[in-house]
Amino acid sequence: MSEAGEQGTLYVISAPSGAGKTSLVAAMLEADSKLGVSVSHTTRPMRPGEQDGVNYHFVARDEFEAMIAQGDFLEHADVFGNYYGTSQAWVRETLASGRDVILEIDWQGAEQVRRLMPECVSIFIVPPSPEALRERLTGRGTDAPDVVERRLAEASEECRHALEFDYLVVNDQFEEALADLLAIARSQRTRMGVQQYRHQALLAGLSD
Ligand code: 5GP
Repeated sequence: MSEAGEQGTLYVISAPSGAGKTSLVAAMLEADSKLGVSVSHTTRPMRPGEQDGVNYHFVARDEFEAMIAQGDFLEHADVFGNYYGTSQAWVRETLASGRDVILEIDWQGAEQVRRLMPECVSIFIVPPSPEALRERLTGRGTDAPDVVERRLAEASEECRHALEFDYLVVNDQFEEALADLLAIARSQRTRMGVQQYRHQALLAGLSD
């Protein structure tokens, strides 16, 4: 617990790939120093430009399975053939220190976190249209058609779970979507459940 006894807020952010989630979360972190992001563990191969310990903790399948057995994960899921999981200890310690935490995870992980920590705030990000999604997933048109079709099918599956989230942010104009996300974080901080700890002395003084 932080000195004031206040817990940070846990944000769960999901999106189909191609919605711009990673760039939006990076911009949120830059704009709001009270936010931190959890670095997940995964068994998927590292992509060019990624760094171990920064984008993910890249681990082997047997290592990941040992971590599941030890109860190291707050949530974990098999996402299209690779394991992904969130460190239980890091998230709980960071929240207890009063800092806000973002989890960038898929709908299966979001479902588990909602069950374990119902006070979390979940946000789903979508592109402005199916055509925009197709365009973003097709990229420069250099991928094989079956790869593109698989990506589109995966994106549709993720979107079928949108209604399970507390907030929906449409990423049409990046700056607008970012403002929506920052507004959600800001509004959470003024909730009475949070403010009553932060402003305990003020409220007591004003009610004397
Ligand atoms: P990518 O491999 O493209 O980085 O991520 C693939 C999917 O896995 C994305 O939907 C991403 O949100 C999700 N993901 C990343 N980390 C985690 C995690 O720790 N847990 C879960 N459940 N999903 C994750």
